[in-house]
Amino acid sequence: MKQDVFSAFSKEYSLSFQDDHYRLQCHMCSYTANMRDSIGKHLTSKPHHSLKTQNDLDMMLPFLPGPIPYQTEAITELLITIASEKGLNKKGNGYDK
Ligand SMILES: [Zn+2]
Repeated sequence: MKQDVFSAFSKEYSLSFQDDHYRLQCHMCSYTANMRDSIGKHLTSKPHHSLKTQNDLDMMLPFLPGPIPYQTEAITELLITIASEKGLNKKGNGYDK
């Protein structure tokens, strides 16, 4: 009998218990493990964590508020300043050295 032990909130991975052993399926990393040690190692590994961070950010992105007018103004002002100092042409802007 298969028994779900834990499913991460966003279904990033699932951990189940079947036939006397655990089974981890990490959907982000396309990784599967049955051994307790490998499961622990995977969930604390660097590649898994960077994918998880990326995944979390991707999920958050649509809910982030847009820029406030001050931010838009500041960026616009900065772009105008840079464009007036360096020009808009690719050549001679000092960045292509
Ligand atoms: Zn993973």
